[in-house]
Amino acid sequence: MSSFTAIAWPTDGPGRRASAGTREADGWYVSFQTETEVETPGQAQGSIIGLDRGVAVFAATSDGELIEPVAFDRQRAKLARLQRRLARKTKRSENWGRLVAKIARLHQKIGRRRLDFLHKLSTRLGKSHAAVVLENLSIGNKTRSAKGTREEPGTHVAAKSGLNRAILDQGWGTFARLLEYKLAVAGGTLLFVPAAGSSQECSACGQRDANNRVSRDLFVCQACGYTGHADINAAKVILRRGIAA
Ligand SMILES: [Zn+2]
Repeated sequence: MSSFTAIAWPTDGPGRRASAGTREADGWYVSFQTETEVETPGQAQGSIIGLDRGVAVFAATSDGELIEPVAFDRQRAKLARLQRRLARKTKRSENWGRLVAKIARLHQKIGRRRLDFLHKLSTRLGKSHAAVVLENLSIGNKTRSAKGTREEPGTHVAAKSGLNRAILDQGWGTFARLLEYKLAVAGGTLLFVPAAGSSQECSACGQRDANNRVSRDLFVCQACGYTGHADINAAKVILRRGIAA
């Protein structure tokens, strides 16, 4: 980080010289750059971590951590209840208006809790790592893919819609932006790597096989026998790609 500081340099001071000063109407000015060390407590030098966006978890890390998402079950049930009640009210009636306001407040509360979670997580990761690697997979692409195209109608639309809902609910895009900013402040970097095949690739030997992913959570390499949590394996693959890049 560097910043410019301009200080007034007295023109009449005995024996004073500004080596790189400029003469201005009201006296001499000298500008210089200062190096400011950004305090980064706990940041391991050279520490780099890979993150996989999970389906059941918010994210898995290459360090073996499974980060649970914010549970919105209670709020979601309440929201559904309020919306059912709203449907029975006469539009634009007083009761209808009160319910609309109540629903808006609930949405606001959910949003604040989610943002709070994203802030805390990105702060923690940004402070403790010099670099974080994420999959370069735009949310827009993943959202569009559920419906499929005319040529290739979407398969498992229900499952994919569920995934889309989960992604949008958890605010992965916001998370990436917050993390990028917090890493930058701490002098770190956010890296993006191609996503293709990361869930089928073995983090131990590099073998890629669709059969490697035995179930949603279980990864068993058909080549070398490496066994582990599927999301953590993917996070390790993402880390490897980040280091290679
Ligand atoms: Zn393997």
